[in-house]
Amino acid sequence: MAAKTTHNYKLVDDKGDLKESIAELKGKLERNTLLAVDCEGLSLSRKGALTILTVATEEKAYIFDVLKLGQAVFSEGLGEMLEDKSREKLMFDCRQDSDALWHQFNVKLTGVLDLQLLEILCRHRRTASGSQSSARNKRRRCQITDEVENISGFRRCLERYLGDVDLVRKKEKGMQAVKLDEEVWKKRPLSDDLIQYLIVDTITMFRLYNKMKNPNEDEQARLRVASERYVDFYRGRRERNYNKYERNAYLALDIIPEKGRIDFAVGDTACTGCKRKFPQDEFPEKRLSIGDQKCRVCMAVEKDWRY
Ligand SMILES: [Zn+2]
Repeated sequence: MAAKTTHNYKLVDDKGDLKESIAELKGKLERNTLLAVDCEGLSLSRKGALTILTVATEEKAYIFDVLKLGQAVFSEGLGEMLEDKSREKLMFDCRQDSDALWHQFNVKLTGVLDLQLLEILCRHRRTASGSQSSARNKRRRCQITDEVENISGFRRCLERYLGDVDLVRKKEKGMQAVKLDEEVWKKRPLSDDLIQYLIVDTITMFRLYNKMKNPNEDEQARLRVASERYVDFYRGRRERNYNKYERNAYLALDIIPEKGRIDFAVGDTACTGCKRKFPQDEFPEKRLSIGDQKCRVCMAVEKDWRY
């Protein structure tokens, strides 16, 4: 079994350690306000099990065993940190984590800076375009499905932005362990490969953030708004159906506000795929007339499944 504490991580799986770790984290936070947060589990969502919560500073990852400690992980002070808007948290695709935290542990995550969204903003900056972001006044013109955007996974970002072979290898080893045994996050003790994976997944977020962030105030404000929409993306749904329209590799519409804005046009026509509501001109008239209107992201999903 791996040692519980080394210089860059601490495995927290009993109540004594929990109190001590939270006190240690709080001490560090007085100097450093940013945290990196990530959850793991089995089919992570409001339904699936959340078994690990990792909270990291730039130097150290605290791996909280939620399977062993349950609600205590949150009630001893971490819940408060996750619910504190002024305490910014770096995350990478917070959608399922947020759904699980709220519906299973009554923790309403906020104050997130989501790096999966920042990566898209970073791409926009490089190409000086931002296709979706200009959709407000010309939704219909953007109707062609090749204007939807892909979201990138964490490993892809490690390759593209950090080019660190060692990190990618650690990430892949962990991914392989999860692939071989989907119950692996429920098993104890956690293997060394999984611990390394948890450390990479959190501590590396600081490096990614430093690489991708933009000091531009407008973009930072848009990232905050987009991340809050992402936090609520699954959590805010009354019901979930876990289908291809809900989970796919495209950026959902109206998550990142267009340049110079922090809001979206309100609509009340529901997409029959993702069930989200958009202004009517998001949809082709033909599809509206048969009551099977899909937003351009769901159209792209539909097309992928057809061929
Ligand atoms: Zn849709």
